[in-house]
Amino acid sequence: MERMPLVDTLGRPLRSLRVSVTDRCNLRCEYCMPEQEYVWLSRDDLLHFEELSRLVDIFVGLGVDKIRLTGGEPLLRRNLPQLVERLAEKPLKDLALTTNGMLLEEFAGPLKRAGLRRMNISLDTLHADRFLQLTRQNEHARVMRGIDAASRLFSGIKLDAVILRGVNDDELEPLLDYGASIGAEVRFIEYMDVGGATHWTSETVVPRGEMLERLTTRFGAITAIEEPGSTAPADRYALPDGRLFGVISSTTEPFCRDCDRARITADGVFFTCLYATDGLSLREAVRGGESLETVSTLIENRWHARRDRGAEERLEVRDRTAYIPLATLREHPHLEMHKRGG
Ligand code: SAM
Repeated sequence: MERMPLVDTLGRPLRSLRVSVTDRCNLRCEYCMPEQEYVWLSRDDLLHFEELSRLVDIFVGLGVDKIRLTGGEPLLRRNLPQLVERLAEKPLKDLALTTNGMLLEEFAGPLKRAGLRRMNISLDTLHADRFLQLTRQNEHARVMRGIDAASRLFSGIKLDAVILRGVNDDELEPLLDYGASIGAEVRFIEYMDVGGATHWTSETVVPRGEMLERLTTRFGAITAIEEPGSTAPADRYALPDGRLFGVISSTTEPFCRDCDRARITADGVFFTCLYATDGLSLREAVRGGESLETVSTLIENRWHARRDRGAEERLEVRDRTAYIPLATLREHPHLEMHKRGG
């Protein structure tokens, strides 16, 4: 008998799981990790690949058919291709990775061989000096070499750029040109006030409408691509010359109604929204040898009760400033974006 799909209080199914494999990162992006010090997860608490694989099986049993590995920087997790290899054997429609590209020169090949299907690479600027200013690492050339290596092996690469006013908002066109040159689609991301973005201000956000206006002035009429049934976070557009790009407008035009995404931190805390402040730890249950049914019921109950509309609720806040104060982040590190993955 076919199982009824698991839906939340707003009728949203659970389809997509973002698995954060580490909270460590080798960059310090201004919009994500601007502080000098962080509270890190204890290594003993990180789920082993065996445990992650078991959890993924449970999620698949509940309807998940898309998995994205993220972090922190997922390629810092030792032997990541071995996890990819395990996950590639599961009945999934999509198995993807989000990375900052720093280690791709070394790992693009092993990831491809392990069965990774798709990759999003974060690239906010084409200028080495800006990269240093944005990330505190003088490693732009290394990232570009990583992207080059990946683009030889993977098709359908997406380049994700967080656009910040006064920092890189003059790079919409150059990023599109660069994307086209390597056969990648660029996605412009509005700056979000997620946990960790302690320097967020509304003035720094470049709204989707403004990005489209600027691109229309430069290129001519832009066509919105209709994608009925899509729950992807990006809305897609075509330039008059046919080039496609996406915009993720979580800040000014959120899309919570369609959100089918759940998240697991590297130490096994289950979150049902990027803005959720209450996670459910599954680590003890998975590690303690609870039956698959018991763990599955925990997840099922949590999703069933899900009411989150985090980004839409943030939109209603007047005089919006950073969502979570630094002192709270220090006390509750799981509220950080780099813990739960983007
Ligand atoms: N380290 C990997 C990377 O850089 O892609 C994966 C983790 S990172 C948290 C995932 C994505 O979240 C990146 O594309 C990053 O640009 C995005 N991100 C982080 N903080 C953000 C913010 N405040 N607003 C919008 N996007 C953000």
